[in-house]
Amino acid sequence: MHSPLPPSDTAPNFDPCDLYRDCTLCPRMCHANRYVRTGICGCGPEIRAARAALHFWEEPCISGQDGSGAVFFSGCTLKCCYCQNYPISRGEVGKAISQERLEEIFLELQDQGARNIDLITATQFLPSILPVLEKVRPKLHIPIVYNCGGYERVETLRMLEGYVDVYLPDLKYFSSDKAKKYSGAPDYFQHASAAVEEMIRQTEKPVFDENGILVRGTLIRHMVLPGQKEDSIRLLGWMAENLPKGGFLLSLLSQYTPFFKAAEHPQINRRLTSYEYGKVLDAALELGLDTGYMQERSSAREEYTPPFDLEGL
Ligand code: SF4
Repeated sequence: MHSPLPPSDTAPNFDPCDLYRDCTLCPRMCHANRYVRTGICGCGPEIRAARAALHFWEEPCISGQDGSGAVFFSGCTLKCCYCQNYPISRGEVGKAISQERLEEIFLELQDQGARNIDLITATQFLPSILPVLEKVRPKLHIPIVYNCGGYERVETLRMLEGYVDVYLPDLKYFSSDKAKKYSGAPDYFQHASAAVEEMIRQTEKPVFDENGILVRGTLIRHMVLPGQKEDSIRLLGWMAENLPKGGFLLSLLSQYTPFFKAAEHPQINRRLTSYEYGKVLDAALELGLDTGYMQERSSAREEYTPPFDLEGL
C-alpha cells in the first residue's frame, strides 16, 4: 500500500531536505533557501509544532469517541485574515522538534488511543516528515490523515502517495477576488481544485472501519463565510460537476468566527446566519452532494481552537 521513498525517478542519494534549499513545495513557489531565510510560510528547515495531543473536534469519522492524534505544525502557506489558529500559522508559537522526536510523538499518540495521526498544516515540513512516516510505518497501525487548507501543489501531493490514508482538505473559495482578499492567494481555486482531484485519485472511494472511522478516502471541508453564499454555491456546483459522485465526502461547516484580522473586512466581520447556511445546504442537497456532514449553527464556539501550549512535544 505504501510507496517507497525516495520516488523511483530521483537519484539514489536524494535527501528530501535538499528541497528546502530552493523551496517550491507549495503554490507560493517562493524559492527560498530555508537554510538561509524563512519562506513566505514563515518556516526554516526545522520542524516546528505547537501541540500534539488527542483532539475531539474533527468530524465524527475522524475523531471518533477516542480522538484523533493531532499534530499542529507551525507556519502556513495561506494568509487567511480570519485564521482561528493564527498564533501558530504566523509562526509565533512553536517548538523545534527533531525527526526522532516526531517519530516518538506519533507512537505516543497511538499508545494514547488516537484513532489516527492527524497532520495539521504540514506541507511546509514535508521533506522532514516523509522520512519519519517511512521509518515509523511498521510500528504504526492507525491511518495517517493529511489535514490542510487545500492550497497545495499536485507535484508535492504526489510525494505523499502511499503515505497518506485520508485527506482532509479545505476547499475555501471559487472566486479569485475573494481568495486574494481573505487569504492572500488569488490562485487558490486553480491549485485547490487540482489538489482535491489528485487527493481523490490517490485515496479512491471512502472506506470506514467497523467503528465508523474513515480509514481511507478524502473528506472535503467547506466553511461557509458570512455574505459569501453565492461563492459557496458556485464551488459546490464545481464539485458536483467535476468530482466523482460517491468518490469523496463533504463537510459543510457553519462555525465561522471572525478571528484575527477579520475586523479589517466588514463583510465577514460577523457570524454566519442560519438563513445563509440553509441556502448553501439546500444547494448542496439539490446538487446531489449529500454524503458527509452538516453542522448545527450553535456549534460556532471558540472551544474548537485548542490551547497551543506545546503539549505533547
Ligand atoms: S512551503 Fe514555504 S518556503 Fe516553500 S514555497 Fe511554500 S511558502 Fe515558500
